[in-house]
Amino acid sequence: MLVVKKFGGTSVANKERIFNVANRCVEEYRKGNDVVVVLSAMGKYTDELIDMAKDINENPPKREMDMLFTIGEQMSVALMAMAMNKLGVPAVSLNAFQVAMHTTSVYGNARLKRIDSERIRHELEQKKIVIVTGFQGINKFDDYTTLGRGGSDTTAVALAAALNADACEIYTDVDGVYTADPRKVKDARKLDVVTYDEMLELATLGAGVLHNRSVELAKKYGVTLVVRSSLNNEEGTIVKEGSKMEKMLVSGVAGDTDTARIAIIGLKDEPGIAFKLFNALAKSNINVDMILQSIGRKGTKDISFTVSEENADEAAAVINNNFDNFESVDVNKNVAKVSIVGAGMQTNAGVAAKMFEALYDENINIRMISTSEIRVTVLIDRENTERAMNAVHDKFSLGER
Ligand code: ASP
Ligand code: MG
Repeated sequence: MLVVKKFGGTSVANKERIFNVANRCVEEYRKGNDVVVVLSAMGKYTDELIDMAKDINENPPKREMDMLFTIGEQMSVALMAMAMNKLGVPAVSLNAFQVAMHTTSVYGNARLKRIDSERIRHELEQKKIVIVTGFQGINKFDDYTTLGRGGSDTTAVALAAALNADACEIYTDVDGVYTADPRKVKDARKLDVVTYDEMLELATLGAGVLHNRSVELAKKYGVTLVVRSSLNNEEGTIVKEGSKMEKMLVSGVAGDTDTARIAIIGLKDEPGIAFKLFNALAKSNINVDMILQSIGRKGTKDISFTVSEENADEAAAVINNNFDNFESVDVNKNVAKVSIVGAGMQTNAGVAAKMFEALYDENINIRMISTSEIRVTVLIDRENTERAMNAVHDKFSLGER
């Protein structure tokens, strides 16, 4: 059996944790399995590297940032190989060059294209544990690239797919995927299983457990993931394709306060308005999330949409600088998104209504609504976020088994 095990920064943050991980991997190895380990940089080292860079140059070239980032993961894998060696087990560390993890050229946000598996296979045949740097790749210019923050999960899934692994385990500092953030919802419960689609929605909503491209990749290649803690022996959460029977009506509730609402009031009601508006925002690299357009009256209409909080002022500026066919633009940063996610929603009516009822019971006003096949999101006032999450979590009895 070939097992890929990925450990995040907190799992390798210091000497004890490194030996803890080494021991877990050696245990797997002693069962006679092939073990490939993917590591992140220790603790908050990637953040520290960013601080160091910004101290030198507040706008560092992206290529040089990637060059700098790669030392974080390289440090982890080398120390891990030393720890395993100390435990008397043959191990070898490999960086993105040595494996050859080919990516697109974009520094800071590259995508994996192809992984050469020969070197890893060769090392496994020599009965070594193979420890690979997460997060990094190389591009066609033979430069280092990185996959975006949190990208080591994606490295692990890509390796599992390339090596046709029998298992892909993502070790983190939480016990798995929860019905809601346990810091915000007191009876949040760990889920045994979530589907890829649910996990994707949750990842995008900021549940923060998995890099969302890792989930896309796992879905594409049918890699079953296990998300579990490196600090205990709990079972964790399995992420896989859902069978019809297992599909939960609602699996989780997510809250996201990194949002702001822009409202354009009294826009001229004519063809092409939405195109011109959102095209201008796209050209400024502003991602738009929820969109709401009012019914036109007296030749005008209102359009409102949400963006991440950091983009709010720029979005308003883009509109003010490029258009003059409206009355006013309003920016509201005092908002939050609360969402429910569940694969069973597609085939069941009344799920959204039940969510709205929970909010009504709490006298929480809904400002915007958007949905996908397996998600309902509402925009509410930010001070109500946790109350709304708890109310919805209760309404769907998510804390119960
Ligand atoms: N070390 C990188 C980061 O902090 C990659 C990762 O942890 O997955 O974003
Ligand atoms: Mg992570």
